[in-house]
Amino acid sequence: MGSEKLRILLVDDDKDDYIIARDILSEIERVKYDLHWESTYKNALRVLSENQFDICLFDYRLGEKTGLELLREAIKSGYKGPIIILTGQGDYEIDNEVIKAGASDYLVKGQISSSLLERSIRHALERKRIEEALVTAKDYAENLINSSIDMIIATNIDRMITEFNPAAQKVFGYSKCDVLHKPIHLLFANHEVWQDINKKIEQEKVFLGEVVKKKKSGEIFHSYLSASILRDSKGQDVGIIGISRDITIQKRLGEQMLYNAYHDSLTDLPNRNYFMNYLEKTITYTRMNKSNLFAVFFLDIDRFKIINDSLGHTIGDKLLISIAERLKECLRCNDIVARFGGDEFVLLLDNIKDVACTKAIAEKILKRLKEPFCLDGHTVFTSASIGIVLHGEYYDRPEDILRDADIVMYRVKENGRSNYAMFDKKMHFHAVKVLQLEEDMQKAIVNNEFKIYYQPIVSLADDNIVGFESLIRWEHPRRGLVSPEEFIPLAEETGMIESIGSWVIKEALSQNNIWYNSGYLHLYVSVNVSARQFRNRNLTELIQRILDETGMNMRNFYLEITESTAMEDMNRCVKILKELRDIGIKIMLDDFGTGFSSINNLRFLPVDGIKIDLSLTRDIATNSDAATIARAIINMAHGLNKKVIAEGVETEAQIKFLRSHNCDMVQGYFFSKPKPAHELIRLL
Ligand code: C2E
Ligand code: MG
Ligand code: MG
Repeated sequence: MGSEKLRILLVDDDKDDYIIARDILSEIERVKYDLHWESTYKNALRVLSENQFDICLFDYRLGEKTGLELLREAIKSGYKGPIIILTGQGDYEIDNEVIKAGASDYLVKGQISSSLLERSIRHALERKRIEEALVTAKDYAENLINSSIDMIIATNIDRMITEFNPAAQKVFGYSKCDVLHKPIHLLFANHEVWQDINKKIEQEKVFLGEVVKKKKSGEIFHSYLSASILRDSKGQDVGIIGISRDITIQKRLGEQMLYNAYHDSLTDLPNRNYFMNYLEKTITYTRMNKSNLFAVFFLDIDRFKIINDSLGHTIGDKLLISIAERLKECLRCNDIVARFGGDEFVLLLDNIKDVACTKAIAEKILKRLKEPFCLDGHTVFTSASIGIVLHGEYYDRPEDILRDADIVMYRVKENGRSNYAMFDKKMHFHAVKVLQLEEDMQKAIVNNEFKIYYQPIVSLADDNIVGFESLIRWEHPRRGLVSPEEFIPLAEETGMIESIGSWVIKEALSQNNIWYNSGYLHLYVSVNVSARQFRNRNLTELIQRILDETGMNMRNFYLEITESTAMEDMNRCVKILKELRDIGIKIMLDDFGTGFSSINNLRFLPVDGIKIDLSLTRDIATNSDAATIARAIINMAHGLNKKVIAEGVETEAQIKFLRSHNCDMVQGYFFSKPKPAHELIRLL
């Protein structure tokens, strides 16, 4: 008992007994108390209602009433403390009855000692404290369950519902009475769902995961459930308790996000991610099922940018949506149409019969897209270019298929649009080769794999070497010497020609300087420039910069441009050639006789000479037509005051012919093949 004073109410109609009780109490040393005595039932109830007592001692006999009646009335009117009943004589029946009615103890007055009373009071108070704690704990638990925003549902061992909190009532639409003592499976989407969960709980004692449940209305919803076995204080299984939360919204949100990640928001078609995943699966499937044939169509709308810019983005968007619709119409339902952004659509046609069938679909699409579109009162005409990759078996990676389909699509565009073309096996291997070559060429620059060979040019007047044409060689580490005919066009296409070209010019200039400084004052060096290099206005600037940076002089330096390069844009060509000549460079027109230039054009070109192409030289001694043309070219060039070199001279007969027709110079294997500079000293 604590240090607080205990407030005790004693109700006894006998004053002597009160005095005895008071005396006994006063002997209890450990208890400090305030004793209040009442002698009647009525007064007792009154003081109880007006005051707070920690403990009551009621005499069993209270005139016409009994202590038992007072006890019942006191409890009824809200008294919560312990009550001890005192009596004159012990009576087993009464003892039982008062304890049942809520008394803490039943003491016989004659036998009461101070220690007995003290113990009785102490035990009564302690029991009361425990009871109160239990009630508090129970209230607390109930509160928790009732105020939880999660659904809390419990069952007994027979899986009948025993707890169904307000959150559960709200979600399911059942009241507690509706479901109490009903089987739990009633709350799940179907009996199997529940059986699976129950099995798991029985085996693993817990269940954690998503489950589908059913509301009173029959509506199905998703919830996250954590359930476990419920045990009593002895550890016995008594049921199941489950806590769950409605995750319908999250689930819908997640599904929406997933959908967005794989679809194009404008047309609602699958997007690149979706397509690539699907294509990868199709490739894998085809690898195992060799007979499967699938096709990938890369489709680009012709002139879409013009439509978009002239009619506005709204119409542009509507056009894309309508195109998406038409494309879907043209395909089977398990084919895939994806939009990769812009005006690019990509189609996957799986399990197709043959090439003819693929072509038929391509034609159908092209025809359908050519039909006019009516958009906001505008009639819009369009068409498409389609690149097709068939025979997916050659591919391991979806990106490669797309790359090749894209390549063919561009080829279609180049060839006039509004058509389709197929990427065939040959193209595939060529593409692979080109790609490899391109990669190697990058390395070649860094690794100094490019070399320059020089081929002598001989004057027919005195049979002396008058100059050299520089010809690039690639010493490929694996493939050996690679011909410029193979890699120059590729270098052109990729733009690498810029760096390769300026390296060649620098090398040739430097060789030119070396020969000059060795006493060969009149030797010239010529360098070939390709169309792309030539179109680049900076050619003059580039050469000037090389001279400035290296401090070299430029003497007898020639550039060779082909006849076809010169004819691409005559006016511009004339302008550039003039600039080049202004800084002292001489110009040769290469491969003359192969292009389609009218001889008349030669009048306007500021060139110093022409080189008769080797295809013509080859035949001059054996074919009279070739001879006539060659003769005409030489005469005409001389008439315009230009020098003539014949390329590819291999025989005595050719030399004889050329000499007799006053050709100025010759170049060819007859004299020497192109060689590295150090091997040429002997010749000089
Ligand atoms: P091109 O300028 O017409 O060069 C002449 C080609 O004829 C050279 O081939 C040369 O080796 C070859 N040739 C010379 N004499 C004979 C002969 O008697 N018989 C036969 N059958 N062929 C002969 P090459 O070196 O393979 O060069 C091919 C083409 O590559 C050149 O034709 C030129 O257009 C281009 N090229 C070479 N080097 C360069 C360069 O540094 N830059 C650029 N842009 N193009 C180059
Ligand atoms: Mg040349
Ligand atoms: Mg040539």
